[in-house]
Amino acid sequence: MENVSEVKKLIKESNNIVFFGGAGVSTASGVPDFRSATGLYNRENDSDYSPEYMLSHEFFVNHPDKFMDYAKENLMIDGIKPNACHKALAKLEEMGKLKGVITQNVDSLHQEAGSKNVVELHGNLRDYYCTSCGKNFDLDYVKSQDGKAVCDKCGGIVRPDIVLYGESLDQNALSYAVSLIASADVLIVGGTSLVVYPAAGLIDFYKGKKLVVINMDPTPKDKNADYLLQGDISKIMDELVEGV
Ligand code: ZN
Repeated sequence: MENVSEVKKLIKESNNIVFFGGAGVSTASGVPDFRSATGLYNRENDSDYSPEYMLSHEFFVNHPDKFMDYAKENLMIDGIKPNACHKALAKLEEMGKLKGVITQNVDSLHQEAGSKNVVELHGNLRDYYCTSCGKNFDLDYVKSQDGKAVCDKCGGIVRPDIVLYGESLDQNALSYAVSLIASADVLIVGGTSLVVYPAAGLIDFYKGKKLVVINMDPTPKDKNADYLLQGDISKIMDELVEGV
């Protein structure tokens, strides 16, 4: 692919790269996305609810036991490890070339790979808190209880610090993401279908001429890309940072 060597040159020459990624970044680590062949939509589910509804604020409030069982089974996966894409981005940051990673994922794999400046637009599954008194808990506490997790201080219901469907994004995270993107020299967007707003609208804040889109399937933003790389993002990112 001719584009790979061109993008490699951009990466070599820049010290202000920003990466914006979605579920496709973590599929090679075994984290399910929503709509691909192995995604949540195509999994057996013993209820009639859609995955999106089961991860919604409304479902959490009305069915806290089912919500937590579903989240434990499908999101809080044991033994997942960063893949070549996470590692490539951590390496670029360490080299002083990458300013930040903006992610729609909640799996913490960027941090596990060594990335320091990570904007988690949809929160994370490391942190939990009581919806009544605000006391903080960790994943082990939540996993030690069947169904919903209950606060040991006040008996309130404990929830993950993720953004559920029907909830708005954290405004601080969003404005920081906007500022990173607006001032980026090279913007690499990957592993996201770019159809879910407001996240998809973020890349409109990029004003440069070095927009790199990496994806397995075509996206609505492909026409805006200055460089388009199609394929497995973990393989492509690995190739892009090799020898940089
Ligand atoms: Zn509490």
